[in-house]
Amino acid sequence: MLDALRASVSRAVQDYLDPPQDIVTEDVETRKEPVTNIGELRGQEDAKIGILIAAYGQHDVLMIGPPGEGKTFLASTVPGFLPTLTPQEIQERYACLQDRSTLRPFVVAGATSSETDLVGGGRTCPRPGLVTQAHGGILFMDELPHFEKEVLDALRGPMSNGFAEITRAGITATFPARFMLIAAMNPCPCGYSGYLNGLSCDCSTATIARYQRRISGPILDRIDILLRMSSTTATEFLSEAVPGQSENFLSRIKEATEFRELNRDQYFPNSNIPGHDAANQNSSLLKWHESGLSEFKKVIDEPKFSGRKRVRLAKVARSYADLMFDEHITAEHISAVLHYTDSNLMER
Ligand SMILES: [Zn+2]
Repeated sequence: MLDALRASVSRAVQDYLDPPQDIVTEDVETRKEPVTNIGELRGQEDAKIGILIAAYGQHDVLMIGPPGEGKTFLASTVPGFLPTLTPQEIQERYACLQDRSTLRPFVVAGATSSETDLVGGGRTCPRPGLVTQAHGGILFMDELPHFEKEVLDALRGPMSNGFAEITRAGITATFPARFMLIAAMNPCPCGYSGYLNGLSCDCSTATIARYQRRISGPILDRIDILLRMSSTTATEFLSEAVPGQSENFLSRIKEATEFRELNRDQYFPNSNIPGHDAANQNSSLLKWHESGLSEFKKVIDEPKFSGRKRVRLAKVARSYADLMFDEHITAEHISAVLHYTDSNLMER
């Protein structure tokens, strides 16, 4: 059995070193992600801007809102906003998954997923999990508080390192797992806490606290953007779809990317800006305006504002400034994104 295992690992290594040429030489320009028009969703303008910032900066997102307000739909629009897979990502995906697709994956993890399903495993031979299937794309986790705690804990490694390490039968395999996490949850078990559009929540405060605590801590710390979905008003519900809104988002993201590359020589998304840069007021990656820095200091100068939260705010403000084509982060940018990085958002 060990021989068969070795053979399969060595075959994967060989594929990695020598992938079929047709999958990496295909002209990148001819590949097109299918675009779902985000304008089909009525209302939710604040959440849409949040999605625009998240897709541009490739920030992990948690959406909180009642059922039926478009959380899954919003998530499904994101692959269409990401740049095409790089030849290296295509090669890595082929090596681990024998997946020949050149489109950004959108992988849905159900709340019944086990740790093995999510990060990989297998009884004898190490097999890649959903985090590797999502490599280069999106991992969508709906109903986040319904996942087992140990399953959520197992996500921390891949989220921090960009790979999943699996050991079986004395053999350790390392699979690539760089993905953007989009998670969604209801605000409480019944779904309607704080959303009183004719529907009232009868969950007790203790029940809500217990429900929300299931995802607090390490996972929440790694999520840059929290989006609170509002209840759609009758006027919004009856309004027309906004035609071509996804195309507008896409061209804004492309222009902001060019702006970032030209202005800061930065060829990676803002979510990957190192933490020590966010803590350096002279960072050439963040580029603070005097007004932005003084507003930032004012906001973070309270005991509840953790180090991770400060880093998140700095990075998300940088993404917003890029989308505004501003070289420096100003006070206005901080104010515009502050509510997206506020993890107290979950409190009732
Ligand atoms: Zn409730």
